[in-house]
Amino acid sequence: MPNQSNKVVIFLGPPGAGKGTQAERLAAEQQLLKISTGDILRDHVTRNTELGQQVKPLLDAGHLVPDDILIALIRDRLASLDPVRVIFDGFPRTTAQAQELDVLLEELGAPVSAVPLLEVPDDVLIARIVERGKTSGRSDDTEEVARNRQTVYRDQTQPLIDYYAARGQVHTINGVGSMDEVYGRIRDAVN
Ligand code: ADP
Repeated sequence: MPNQSNKVVIFLGPPGAGKGTQAERLAAEQQLLKISTGDILRDHVTRNTELGQQVKPLLDAGHLVPDDILIALIRDRLASLDPVRVIFDGFPRTTAQAQELDVLLEELGAPVSAVPLLEVPDDVLIARIVERGKTSGRSDDTEEVARNRQTVYRDQTQPLIDYYAARGQVHTINGVGSMDEVYGRIRDAVN
């Protein structure tokens, strides 16, 4: 029997849209575990693990890390959760990842609850990332790599929006406005 309090939120949106900050707040308010694959990968790079050494060049260039690596990371994170209450930030990023996630969630009896999609115009995104780069210490927060990440998003991640839209699960949210305004829209969409 699936646990009634399971909740799986998949937060979609381009790099720089503000998913991380907003997901953090939603996680705190709704007792969800935030799973940010970018944070997990950067942590491996910082600790200089074998995986970190393998993925560093990809992160630095703004390329995606191979799907099988991500799936293994996510399988590991979900394994011990009961109930399954999570918000994904930065995952899935390809249709293959979304399909594999569905298999995992099926095994756990915890289907996707909602897919908020944060929309922000491209020029605003680049400006935000370059601004963030002044303090983030992230090697991929430069204008050149940011543009690369936008292209990767358009080519590889945007198609996956249709995957969830076909099930009527996507809620498009205007990501321009104050943090509080945007958060209010997200909360309304998810509830
Ligand atoms: P942002 O959304 O700001 O671009 P993230 O922190 O989500 O940044 O991701 C940073 C980098 O980590 C990506 O450019 C990519 O190299 C890698 N990455 C994160 N999540 C995934 C994923 N689901 N699939 C493949 N690569 C990923």
